[in-house]
Amino acid sequence: MNVSDGERLANLLESHGCTRATKEKDADIIVVVSCSIRQKAMDKLFGKLPTWRKWRQQRGVRTVLTGCVLPSDRRKLKKEFDIFIEMKDIADLPSLLKLTPSDADQGEVTNADYLALKPDYKSKIQAYIPIMTGCNNYCTFCVVPYTRGQESSRSSSEIISEVKKLISKGYSEIILLGQNVNAYIDPDKYHDQDTIYSRSRYFWEFKKDQPIQWRMATTKVPKDFAMLLKKINRIPGKFWVRFLTSNPQDVSDELIDTLDKCHKLTKYFHLPIQAGDDEILRRMNRRHTRDYYLKLIKKIRKARPGTAITTDIIVGFPGETKKQFEETAKVMREVKYDMAYIAEYSPRPGTSAQRFFKDDVSRQEKIRRRKILNNILAETALANNKKLVGQTITMLVDKYNKETKSNSGKTGTNKTVHFKGKNFVGKFTNVKINQVSAWGLAGELSK
Ligand code: SAH
Repeated sequence: MNVSDGERLANLLESHGCTRATKEKDADIIVVVSCSIRQKAMDKLFGKLPTWRKWRQQRGVRTVLTGCVLPSDRRKLKKEFDIFIEMKDIADLPSLLKLTPSDADQGEVTNADYLALKPDYKSKIQAYIPIMTGCNNYCTFCVVPYTRGQESSRSSSEIISEVKKLISKGYSEIILLGQNVNAYIDPDKYHDQDTIYSRSRYFWEFKKDQPIQWRMATTKVPKDFAMLLKKINRIPGKFWVRFLTSNPQDVSDELIDTLDKCHKLTKYFHLPIQAGDDEILRRMNRRHTRDYYLKLIKKIRKARPGTAITTDIIVGFPGETKKQFEETAKVMREVKYDMAYIAEYSPRPGTSAQRFFKDDVSRQEKIRRRKILNNILAETALANNKKLVGQTITMLVDKYNKETKSNSGKTGTNKTVHFKGKNFVGKFTNVKINQVSAWGLAGELSK
């Protein structure tokens, strides 16, 4: 999402006479699209401050902060930047920087809809398309509702016209983005109040010394995301479609049904479980149980055999015992993920978990748990990849190394593949797999 935001921002500034600096130290304006999901990303930003401070004083460099910033960090960072601007207001940035338009073609911009800004796509092969932003789920560990705000979706007509334009320019892969893509609600469509309401009533407040209220998501998930996928799938041309991220509690039956109907969708499903223990899930305010999640995976695999399943996991959530952690390890062994992004819990200011639960798992223990899970992942990913030896797989080549005469790219299942030969960049290519590791595949051009 940050890459995509950066692409929109770049085009906005370019259309106001700016050109891209190739090196940070050559820039006259530095815009930071920050991320607050974990403390690590913020620490990086704080580490850069002395350098930028010096440049501001010595060279008059102007600095802008946008992206996801927590209110507490915003207060600390105010002095360090010339401008702080919310991503949703980014269309106002050129005038704040006193830049004048040099190109009238900036897309249809209203303050309410920064997503309508035209991006300056980094790649000529894959394009990120944000379809919604924000989240109403209030997982207790997560800052997104506080930094990105409530869910808001782009109209399907606008998305479709962006995809059509990209396909006519020769793009081969469309990656639909959102913090919670399944919650996509098409503003072009008529919605009864119930649908709107069911998406906005997810706020959960934890009261001290009172049992935490929790229930499974019984509200209906709108069908709009599945409908959007069908519409995109109908656009003529050879291209792949991927989407992230989905929240298990919001995966509708319609979406699962769509997987096999839309063959432009790649066989790839990223489905964050976060933890394998129901009590931890409850305290995370996830509205899925372990069983519900496992059933969902079964449904996905049945609907579209060969789908690679990937996930996000947090280890060391407040109060997570060794036994509860073991439940997560068990799930990992059972699902046999192709990839998992495993994070050590990091308390985020203002979230319910930070306010009401003590961060009581030691740093050392978090590292230990992360390593155990990474080892399970390495085993299952390797076992999955071994099954591919001897098979011919279609991949999309996105890089070529002239020196080693080596192509690299991704399969539909999002696995990296290398093969030698002439340059195939931008092409769907069939490769016979002859070597695998947990993290990638190698092969030769299939005749
Ligand atoms: N929408 C996704 C989450 C996207 S955020 C979902 O609902 O599952 C990306 C990942 O960052 C999360 O899946 C989570 O694993 C991790 N993350 C978020 N907050 C975190 C925190 N406080 N500490 C550690 N990891 C966190």
